[in-house]
This record gives sequence, C-alpha cells and structure tokens, in this order.
Amino acid sequence: MAGPLVYPGGKSFAFTVIDDTDVATVENVEPVYRLLERLDMRTTKTVWPLDCPEGSRNFSSSETLEDPAYREFALDLQRRGFEVASHGATMESSKRERTLAGFRRLADLFGAYPRVHANHAFNRENLYWGADRVDQLVVNALYRRFNGRPADYYLGHVEGSPYWWGDFCGQHVAYVRNLTFREINLAKVNPSMPYHDPSRPLVRWWFSAADAEDRFEFNSLLRQDNVARLEAERGFCIVATHFGKGFVQDGEVNPTTRRQLEDLARRDGWFPTVSELLDWLREQHVTDSLPPREWRSMQWRWARDLFWQKLRQRRRRKKRVRKS
Ligand SMILES: [Zn+2]
Repeated sequence: MAGPLVYPGGKSFAFTVIDDTDVATVENVEPVYRLLERLDMRTTKTVWPLDCPEGSRNFSSSETLEDPAYREFALDLQRRGFEVASHGATMESSKRERTLAGFRRLADLFGAYPRVHANHAFNRENLYWGADRVDQLVVNALYRRFNGRPADYYLGHVEGSPYWWGDFCGQHVAYVRNLTFREINLAKVNPSMPYHDPSRPLVRWWFSAADAEDRFEFNSLLRQDNVARLEAERGFCIVATHFGKGFVQDGEVNPTTRRQLEDLARRDGWFPTVSELLDWLREQHVTDSLPPREWRSMQWRWARDLFWQKLRQRRRRKKRVRKS
C-alpha cells in the first residue's frame, strides 16, 4: 500500500468491532447494539446457531440461535445493517456433521453463509489454531507450553479427522481471524491484511484484530489518546471483544464505554462492518501475500502482547478476589 489511506467518503480512519458471542444473551448485549446503531456504527457479531446439549463448563450461560428471543434479536440486527458471522456451530467442539449443520442453519436464517469466521476457545474444529497459528520456532514453542494443548489437538484443517471442515471453509468463508494485538492501529502491525498464507491454504484471507477480551480491556484500548492516535495516523481498527463480558449493568451500557464510543463517533471515521472493511482493504492491495518480514514481526509482537495480557488478567483476578 502506497501512502496514507483515504477511506470511503474521504474519512481519516476506519473502525469496527467483531463481537464474539461467548456468554452473550439478549439482556447483556442488546443495549450495546442500540448504542452502536444510534452512533451510526455497524459492526460484526458472531453467533452460535446450535445449542450444546452435552453442556459447557465456561459458556453455558450463552444464548444461541435456538433461543427464540436471541434468534429474533440476531435477525433484527442483520436487518439493521449489522453483520452476522460464524463462531463455529456451538460453544464446545463439533465434529464435521455438526459444523456443517450449523452453517446450513445460518444460511437458512440469514440468507447466505457468513463471510467471516473466528475460531472459538479450545474447540477442536478450530482451523490452524493453537501452536499452528504461528511459524516462528521460539514463538511456537512458547505458545505450546502456555496453551497446554497437544500439537494435534486442533483439527479443523486436517482432512480425514472427525473435526475436518477446511474444505467448506475454503469454499464458503472469505475471512478468518488469526492473530490479535494490543494495538489500536492495525495498519502499524499488519498493513497487508487481509492476506493469504500459502502454508495455511484453506483460509482464503486472514485478518488481524486489536484484542480486548472484556469491558476493562475495551475501555483501556479506546482511551482518548489511543483513539486520537488512530485518527492522526489514518489507521484502521477491528476490535475483537466480547460484549457479553461486563459491558451492560442493569440494562445500561457502562458509562465509560458509552462516552468513549460517543467520542469516537464524533471523529472523522468510517464505521463499516468487518467484511466491508476487509473487502475495501483488499481492493487497495497490489497482492494478497504477506511480506515475510511483516509476518515475522507480527508473530513476535503477538507473543509479547499475549504475555502482558495474561499478566494483567492475573493481576486483575487477584484484585477481585481480594475485594470479594
Ligand atoms: Zn469465543
């Protein structure tokens, strides 16, 4: 990409969100969507089409499209211009049959297969996940140690495994999320996104995101100085977050989140959905490939950011335990 980007409408920066559906319910995310719509922001929300009859230790409070109220909420969001994306069939691992049934259900409900997919937690059908996300030997070894799953645990991209669905992904899904960073301006870390990676060929284009696990991290990422810098640098941002994690209390959006989103909306930004932004970025590219140097520095940066994030989360958990 040559020179600073000029976004559609002559805007100075681009901002959107991919909201993963973990622990989301109509009650704990709807107010956030009402706020985004009022601010003329259209973002992307992942959904789970199917329930998880075997139970789920960490995610059982989540609603899925089998809950009528949640289904109506998701359909209504699409009508209002938000994008619906895939987070797999449900909150725990799915073999091929359930994954494909989930996609068919999404197509029935929303009129087409989702164009965007994000792998979920420790689901075994995740593609190129765990240590397979990266190539650098040292980064890979660190991650393997830290992630605690064996090398052949994630099998979505492995033909012949019960979790295989890579063929379907390559055919029907345009964009899959890989690395996330503690950086609001992704143009600084991964200017070539979305990119094709020939060593992970079943994903047509990968994209990176700015990581904000929950409301605390989201509010910290959207601090005024960060947002001002995103605008000054004419950058672009896709925040990967979970609106189900602490953004709404007693039916109201957290006041800091609200103020920061209002500030963002007053700036000279373009606020598309994730696939709109990625389609547009691709049009600006000469090639789909990722320069090896950029990929190397992304992996190191990712490992570093992950390390600090885990440290911060541990500190915060300790503080909470002390308070309660
Ligand atoms: Zn998830």
